[in-house]
Amino acid sequence: MSPDPRLISRRHLLSAGAIAGLGATFSGSRSDAAALVVPGARQFTVNQPLVDAFVRRRGGPIGTSGKVAVAFRCDHHLNKFIQNLLPFHRKYQIPVTVAAMSQMFSIEAGVNGSTSMSFPALQRMALENGFEVANHGATHRDAPTSQDLRNEIVHSKAKLSMSLPKLPIELFVPPGVGGTGYQGFNGGLAPSSFQRYLAGRLILQEHALSTGYTPGYWSMSGDPLDSMGNVHVGLDAAVFARRGPLFVQAAGQLGRGVSFMYHPSSLDTAGLQAIEQFMAWCAAERDAGRLEILTVTGLMMSSFSGSIRHNLLSGTSSFKSGWNGWNGSAARWILQKEPAAWYARRGAQSAALFKDVLIGDHAGSVRQLRIPFRSPQGTRVRIEVFDVHFPGHLRVTREISLPASADFRLVHQYLALPLTGTSIVRVQITPLSGGELHVQEPQLLAA
Ligand SMILES: [Zn+2]
Repeated sequence: MSPDPRLISRRHLLSAGAIAGLGATFSGSRSDAAALVVPGARQFTVNQPLVDAFVRRRGGPIGTSGKVAVAFRCDHHLNKFIQNLLPFHRKYQIPVTVAAMSQMFSIEAGVNGSTSMSFPALQRMALENGFEVANHGATHRDAPTSQDLRNEIVHSKAKLSMSLPKLPIELFVPPGVGGTGYQGFNGGLAPSSFQRYLAGRLILQEHALSTGYTPGYWSMSGDPLDSMGNVHVGLDAAVFARRGPLFVQAAGQLGRGVSFMYHPSSLDTAGLQAIEQFMAWCAAERDAGRLEILTVTGLMMSSFSGSIRHNLLSGTSSFKSGWNGWNGSAARWILQKEPAAWYARRGAQSAALFKDVLIGDHAGSVRQLRIPFRSPQGTRVRIEVFDVHFPGHLRVTREISLPASADFRLVHQYLALPLTGTSIVRVQITPLSGGELHVQEPQLLAA
C-alpha cells in the first residue's frame, strides 16, 4: 500500500523545511485533516496530576471558534532577545515561550549568551509580558548516561522551579544535542519516543507536556495530549519568516495551529526585519478577529471547533446584566447600550474603573487582557493589572493613546498570574486625558 500523499507532503513540509508550492499542497479540507488522525490509546504515559493541574490552570480547552492559533518560542540566548526581540513582542503584544536552561546564566556567555539577565529578571519579564518559561535542560549538552539524563531533565526542572517560584515549569522543550541524542531519544521524533526512551519517560514524569520533533501542524483538538512532541517551524532564516502567513493559512485549511521558533543569536538584520513584519501581520490578523496568538502551552490547549474560553473576569463578559462586579457606579461611569453591545461611558467626574478577581486554581497561567475601547475624538488611557494586597508582587501597567475612531478597537495586554504569593488581582482602567471614552467589558482570557 502506498503511503497517503497528503501525509507525505505535510511531513515533507515541516520536517525538511521544504516550503515551495505551499499553497498548492494544502488544498485539503478539514475532513481530510481528520482522516490523518489515528484514534487509539496513547503511546506514552503521562503524569496525570501534572496534566490535570495544567488543564485546570487554563480553565479547560481554549476555544478559538474556527480561528487558527499560533505561538512563538524563543530558544534562549537572552542577551540578543532583550536587545532585538523583546521590543517586538511588546510593540505587537505577542507572548512568547522561552526555552531556558537551568544553568544558562552561568554557561551561556558572550554576546550571544544570556549573562545580561538573571532568574529574578526573567521571572519579572514573564509576569509582566505574559511569557512562559519551559525547561530546556540544564546545560544543552548531550546526556550519554542515565545519571546525566536525570541531571539534564529532572534536576534542571527542580532548579528552574526553585529559581522561578512564581512561574509553573510545565513544559519540556528538548534541546538540540549531538552525540547519543539523549540516548536515542533524538528530541522526540514521535509520540511513542516519550515511552520508548528513558529521556522521554523522565520528561513526562516531571512535566505535563513536551514539544519535540513529531512532524505536522498542531491538532487544536482541545486535548493537550494530542500535541505531545509536536515540532515547530523555524523562523531563523528571513525566507521562512517572510512565508509565515502561508504557514498560518495552510494550518487554517486543516483546522490546525502552528508553533514558530527563533534563535535570537541566529537572526541577522534581514531576519529581524522579516520577523518584525510577520509579528505585525499576526497582530493585525488577531485584532481583525481572524487569528489567536497564544503561548505554546495555550496552543496545546486550544480547540479549533470550540468556542468556550476561560475568562477570569467573568463568565458572561458583557455589561448587559449591570456592572457585573465592576465599580462603575461608585466610579461614576454610565452604562449604555447599542444594538451590538453594552458599554461603559466615562463622564467628566469619572474615577478609575476597576474589578477585583480571585485567581485561585488559575495561578500561574498566562492571560490575555482584551479590552474593546472607543474614543470618537481620541484620548489617553492607562491599563493596569496588579496584586491588590501586594502590588510589589505583580504590577502590569501600560499607557495607551487611543486614536480617534467611530468603532471599538481591541487593546491587548498579556501577563502571567503569579503561581504563588498573589490571591486577588485588580484590572483597572484610568483615563489620562479628556474626551469621550467607551469601554466594553474587558476579558482576561486563558492564553
Ligand atoms: Zn536550544
